[in-house]
Parts: sequence; C-alpha cells; structure tokens
Amino acid sequence: MTDITIALSKGRIFEDTAPLLKAAGIVALDDPESSRKLILSTNRANVRLIIVRASDVPTYVQYGAADLGIAGKDVLQEHGGAGLYQPLDLNIARCRMMVAVPNGFDYDSAVRQGARLRIATKYVQTAREHFATKGVHVDLIKLYGSMELAPLVGLADAIVDLVSSGNTLKANNLVAVEEIMQISSRLIVNQAALKLKQDAIQPVLDAFSAAVKK
Ligand code: ATP
Ligand code: MG
Repeated sequence: MTDITIALSKGRIFEDTAPLLKAAGIVALDDPESSRKLILSTNRANVRLIIVRASDVPTYVQYGAADLGIAGKDVLQEHGGAGLYQPLDLNIARCRMMVAVPNGFDYDSAVRQGARLRIATKYVQTAREHFATKGVHVDLIKLYGSMELAPLVGLADAIVDLVSSGNTLKANNLVAVEEIMQISSRLIVNQAALKLKQDAIQPVLDAFSAAVKK
C-alpha cells in the first residue's frame, strides 16, 4: 500500500480533525498535545501524521512533503493555494475574519471621508485585497499575534483578525465593524500526489467527505 503523509496543526484543528480521521479509520498512536514528536505513526502502517504550525500546512502540502493537510480558509487565502487541490470544506474551526476598531472610533465615516487607515494584521494579503476592493487606502502592519493590542497602544487604527465569540475583542474595548469572510477548515491535497497516489488518497477523501456530511 502506498505511504501517505497528512499535515496537521495542534490545537483546535487537531481536536476537530481527530473525529474525522477516526471516521476514515485513522487513529494517531501518540497524542500530539502531549507528545514532542513531530511525526506521529497511526494505526495504519501506510499513514503518518506530521505536526506543523497552522500557517505552514499549505507549504508542506504544496511542495509534496505532505500529501494531504487540513488548513483554515484564512491560511489558504493568505498562502494563495498554488499547487493545492481543495476538495472539501470540513466545516470545522469555524469563525469569521473581521475588521475591528476601538469602541467609539467611527469606522464608517472614516471610510466615507477617504481617511487613510493603519491596519495591523497577520493576514496582510487578504486585508490588502479587501480594502483595495472597497477603495479604502490602508497602510498594513504585519503582526504575528495579539493583534488586539495594536489599536490600544497607537500602533494601528484598526485590526483584521479572526473572531468567534467576540470575547477577546470585548475584553480589549474593541468592536467588530465589518466581516471580510467566513472561515472554516478545508482538506487540501497536493495536486501531483492526488494523481500518483490515488489508490491511497481517494479512500481517505471519500471517508472524510462521508464523515463531514453526517
Ligand atoms: P499559532 O498559534 O501557532 O500562531 P495559529 O494562531 O494560526 O497558529 P490556531 O490559533 O490553532 O493557530 O488557529 C488555527 C486555525 O484555526 C486558524 O488558521 C483558523 O482557521 C482557526 N481559528 C483560529 N481562531 C479561531 C477561533 N477563535 N474560532 C474558530 N477557529 C479559529
Ligand atoms: Mg493561535
């Protein structure tokens, strides 16, 4: 049987993916949350999991270091999707990418008046496209985390970040003013691997697809 490698990130994606893997008959032999191993064997001799940073999943799959992966739409949008086949929305890790500003900042009138806005975000490409489409002039500041802090200390007027409950925004006196896109995680497949390893990959795709519909 052909060997396949699946790239996953720890945390919420792994938690939400474990039941889907199980439905596909794949169970990791170590818990990635407690193990320090980056390559995990599974109950299936031909299937292994690699544990990478969420934003690195598309890169591993693009270059064929992993055949399959699971990545958020936020990450895929920012990566661009080159070399990737995206057959399935897994409907997990759902949230929204939003523009948020400090309470009391009148975003709509700033936009109407053609103000130039400073935007802090991890999603520079996606934010650039969003504001260009709206015809809003922005200066983008790339951050790697804790985006909520930026407007509080004068680094930016607004942020682009993922929001689920809104509790983090609230705790920092920020308010979401615009939705950029709905986010969920997708299964991604290396385009060449799909052709060359179809015997091993197709059953996994089918099992995921059946598990998602349930
Ligand atoms: P790291 O923590 O290593 O910097 P990360 O912050 O991108 O990476 P996670 O926070 O685990 O890693 O997020 C992984 C993915 O989960 C994101 O790319 C996104 O698709 C999804 N996600 C992020 N935040 C939320 C949220 N609040 N609710 C639901 N899904 C989310
Ligand atoms: Mg995180």
